[in-house]
Amino acid sequence: MKNIVVLGGGLSGLTTAYLLKNEDISTTILEGRDRIGGRIHTLRNDAEAPIEMGATWLGKKHTHLLDLLDQLNIGTTQQFMGNKGFYEPMSVSPPQLVDLPPNKEPSYRIDGGSDNLIHSLANQLDQNQILLNERVRSIADIGNSLQIQTNNTNFDADAVISTLPPKLLIESIRFTPSLPDKLQNIAAGTHTWMADSIKVALTFERPFWKGSNSSGTIFSNVGPVNEMYDHSDEQQSRYALKGFMNTAYHSVSQEKRKQLVLDQLRRFYGDKTDSYISYRETVWKNKPLTYTEYDDPIIPHQHNGHKVFQQSYWDHRLFISGSETAPSFPGYMDGAVESAQRVVTQLKKLI
Ligand SMILES: Cc1cc2nc3c(=O)[nH]c(=O)nc-3n(C[C@H](O)[C@H](O)[C@H](O)COP(=O)(O)OP(=O)(O)OC[C@H]3O[C@@H](n4cnc5c(N)ncnc54)[C@H](O)[C@@H]3O)c2cc1C
Repeated sequence: MKNIVVLGGGLSGLTTAYLLKNEDISTTILEGRDRIGGRIHTLRNDAEAPIEMGATWLGKKHTHLLDLLDQLNIGTTQQFMGNKGFYEPMSVSPPQLVDLPPNKEPSYRIDGGSDNLIHSLANQLDQNQILLNERVRSIADIGNSLQIQTNNTNFDADAVISTLPPKLLIESIRFTPSLPDKLQNIAAGTHTWMADSIKVALTFERPFWKGSNSSGTIFSNVGPVNEMYDHSDEQQSRYALKGFMNTAYHSVSQEKRKQLVLDQLRRFYGDKTDSYISYRETVWKNKPLTYTEYDDPIIPHQHNGHKVFQQSYWDHRLFISGSETAPSFPGYMDGAVESAQRVVTQLKKLI
């Protein structure tokens, strides 16, 4: 099996290619976007703090991810929370500054930004292993090989490893012959973690929320931002706040969302809010290479790690990987790494 194609250049796809390269097995990654990283997306501007629009935090329990970071010599830094946080219990009462309980399970961020992991993995690969702007449309078993059609061209493969979220895979790629009904049904009802979330961030010259009577940690039942945290860089030299906006706001204009965020922050910080340098947001629901609409109600992590994803298809030539297929911590960065390790172990047995 010489010609292995990996669908998707997110954390799972890049880790798969990296692990296989360590075994002297070459792969080609077909990535539909014009960038690698998928749900890891760090916005950079040298003058401002890097902003994570996708995955940001990990914990000590995420051992698959921590081992990979270790191998790549990438450190982590504990998320700054402070001793106090703003809490908005309801719209008719003002926000309160409350003491935060001791955090027994702190969160950590990847030093240099989450995309430091993505680019470190990519740097271990040969340049021609990653093909961008290749959006896969169909895969056909034509007997002696698998034929992959993208928006640009065709590729042949001896084996294909998909790292697309299973629901996206089943709804955006045509398979000939069709995949088993059970796999299709489970995949169609598999939740894609955070795929409908809205992230918002503001960068600032000064971290005024770190003063004694303030905080960058916000929990709000009122919204539109439900949670917000300090998002300054680990050197504490460039400053930002970043949070999650209620997903109901995906249909209003960007300008409207921005004004709503600023109005809310003025309740905590007054005029200092308006000293922001830039406002950033990502509405993941508008990203067709991550999100597809759910026909039926779905619960978080539904069908994640299901056993239909643990086996291979088409005579051991088609593998379904990606974070949502991992049995432990599916949907998270750790799951993306675990799923890559699982597929590499399966493939090695076949070669
Ligand atoms: C807003 C947000 C916040 C998050 N926060 C955290 C967090 O704090 N901690 C954490 O651990 N995890 C978090 N996650 C989840 C984390 O980002 C994912 O678990 C992880 O990045 C998934 O990696 P993956 O490679 O499995 O999938 P993806 O990153 O989704 O990669 C799939 C890749 O396939 C590509 N693709 C899609 N369709 C096609 C096609 N037809 N042809 C070719 N390529 C295609 C996509 O462009 C993408 O690059 C967050 C996610 C989001 C969106």
